[in-house]
Amino acid sequence: MAGRLDGKVAVITGGASGIGAATAARFVAEGAKVLLGDLQDEVGEKLAASLGDGAAYRHCNVAREPQVKGLIDEAVDRFGRLDIVFNNAGFGGAMGSFEDTSVDEYDLTMDVLLKSVFLGIKHASPYLKAQRSGSIISTASVCGLMPTIGAHLYNVAKAGVIMMTKTAAVELAEYDIRVNCICPGYVATQLHVGRTLSELDADEAAERMDKARERTNESQPIARMGEAEDIASMALFLAGDESTWVTGTAQVVDGGLTLGKPWRKLAPMLTEHRPMRMYVPED
Ligand code: NAD
Repeated sequence: MAGRLDGKVAVITGGASGIGAATAARFVAEGAKVLLGDLQDEVGEKLAASLGDGAAYRHCNVAREPQVKGLIDEAVDRFGRLDIVFNNAGFGGAMGSFEDTSVDEYDLTMDVLLKSVFLGIKHASPYLKAQRSGSIISTASVCGLMPTIGAHLYNVAKAGVIMMTKTAAVELAEYDIRVNCICPGYVATQLHVGRTLSELDADEAAERMDKARERTNESQPIARMGEAEDIASMALFLAGDESTWVTGTAQVVDGGLTLGKPWRKLAPMLTEHRPMRMYVPED
């Protein structure tokens, strides 16, 4: 059976773990060739090997321009073309109050979460423009739409990713290149356990993840935490030919988190069913 990405070549940053790793597996299963970039070399190499000839890995710090350019150039050298760039690498960034955050922490957070997206778009553009087709996808967050306590700079960077997406989409539409981003809600990845999984012992990581799942189950309309595959499904849609008229969008994939409180918490406040009384003015 034909794959949805047959013949296409993709670059995925943050491809060693979580959303990037799930998307890599999905893209390869749908016929794409994929080059993964990440800092976790051992994990990334292993993952690429497990995905077969359709996948390869290269060390890439997305905050460094020559490394992002090198990753994109290698995809073209290795696989002969470029169709999809998924700017996905990320971390939690600086946490805490404005007064406690240093300028170095600010720069690092913005470099990894926002400059990286600029670099991905910048260095993919010449290839995609020459080809007059392509799909650029970036991972923003619901935090780019509504603030999260303590993660000020993460919120700001992700809001920047949404606007970078829209701005780039205007320029690149002239070349039939689509630019979209995804705003995930809470997704069960190592980002939620605070450190790379290899730094924690398995029990501690599982315990932290269980707690995160519990919190999420209680707090949002669809009572489960997102899985990396939920986001990979949206990335697949945006990468493939079913979305050729979709550009400049921020696709929210969040189990209803941005809708606010779940009905099961609101309903008990409505103690009885009362039809609304009509206001009838007196004569
Ligand atoms: P993850 O930690 O499993 O994956 C992130 C990957 O990015 C890791 O493999 C990490 O090594 C890599 N990375 C970090 N800094 C890098 C750098 N400078 N250069 C190259 N690679 C780097 O977490 P994830 O949840 O899969 O995160 C993927 C994206 O999703 C991130 O942009 C994150 O902000 C975003 N996101 C995650 C959630 C969530 O709840 N997990 C929600 C919204 C958005």
